[in-house]
Amino acid sequence: MNESKRTELSEIGEFGLIDRLKEFLPAKSDKIVKSIGDDAAVIKTEENGIQFISTDLLMEGVHFDLAYTPLKHLGYKSVAVNVSDIAAMNGTPSHIVVGIALSNRFSVEAIEELYTGMKLACDAYSIDLVGGDTTSSRSGLGISVTVVGEGREEEVAYRSGAQINDLICVTGDLGAAFMGLQVLEREKQVYLANPEMQPELVGKDYIVQRQLRPEARIDVIKSLKSLGLKPNAMIDISDGLASELLHICKESKVGAYIYEDKLPIDPMTFDTAREFELDPLTIMLNGGEDYELLFTIAQADYDKVRNHPDISVIGYIKSADEGVNIYTKGDHLVPVTAQGWNHFKA
Ligand code: ADP
Ligand code: MG
Repeated sequence: MNESKRTELSEIGEFGLIDRLKEFLPAKSDKIVKSIGDDAAVIKTEENGIQFISTDLLMEGVHFDLAYTPLKHLGYKSVAVNVSDIAAMNGTPSHIVVGIALSNRFSVEAIEELYTGMKLACDAYSIDLVGGDTTSSRSGLGISVTVVGEGREEEVAYRSGAQINDLICVTGDLGAAFMGLQVLEREKQVYLANPEMQPELVGKDYIVQRQLRPEARIDVIKSLKSLGLKPNAMIDISDGLASELLHICKESKVGAYIYEDKLPIDPMTFDTAREFELDPLTIMLNGGEDYELLFTIAQADYDKVRNHPDISVIGYIKSADEGVNIYTKGDHLVPVTAQGWNHFKA
């Protein structure tokens, strides 16, 4: 690393920083199948056995606002977002360790509430919480979760596995978590202006829940296994569909076409976007925090997903020179660009 020159984080952004760290930290052990650069690291265990490891850090004021985030939901979410990265590798999560940074603003009961949420998530995903670390904090609550999972070498789905002519699939629906956040932020402003006002969340339950208490799609991973379907490439949608599709295309050295009218959106997300005078397409592409799965499959596997209630086929993979594009409803062909959540970029 160059010590004499100062480069601003904003110049290279979060992904630029990660690329530099990846160059700087080549893997030493030949047991490491995949180091920095996918949803989780992939490490060989016994013959064809794989261990996954991944970590996600949630910081108060950056990732959550305690003005409208119940601690129980926050505990659940901090586990779910980690489990999601193991799902994204087509793996099975097994256990987590949890680090928390606390100020004396929190009572023992409040911390127990946080852990009640974590326990609920551990039960939902059949994993165990087996340790962690506790420290004091002077700048808000921090929650660091590390998840370990297991799998078989031949079943791992990397970001880099997409093949030309693959179908692009997405689970669930898109943009709900982002619109839930907009509603929560609006109600917070209303409350700050007039603390007598009660938050108006009626009719917004689904999108608010998607923001506060997302699920990792382990159910879909199990379903794919029972269908005998192994995705060629996979990633979870934490930053937004556009950003994640670009990751798959970059790592797989391919291009893609997706269709606006194939993108799954819940009516509540659509209506709320309109209410906020936002374009539902922008929300689906760049919303983020949905924790759905984006994956590609061989065309021959189409019959296995065509009637699946949780899977939408949204487009197909082409060669890199065609770029990454979306056909909008007006049949315009537009390049997909990432405007998702990239720390450090303006
Ligand atoms: P995700 O959104 O799936 O959690 P990220 O975009 O956070 O993925 O990270 C992409 C890759 O970069 C992952 O392999 C992750 O382990 C790695 N990574 C992120 N931050 C760091 C860091 N500070 N040091 C080393 N590796 C990192
Ligand atoms: Mg991920």
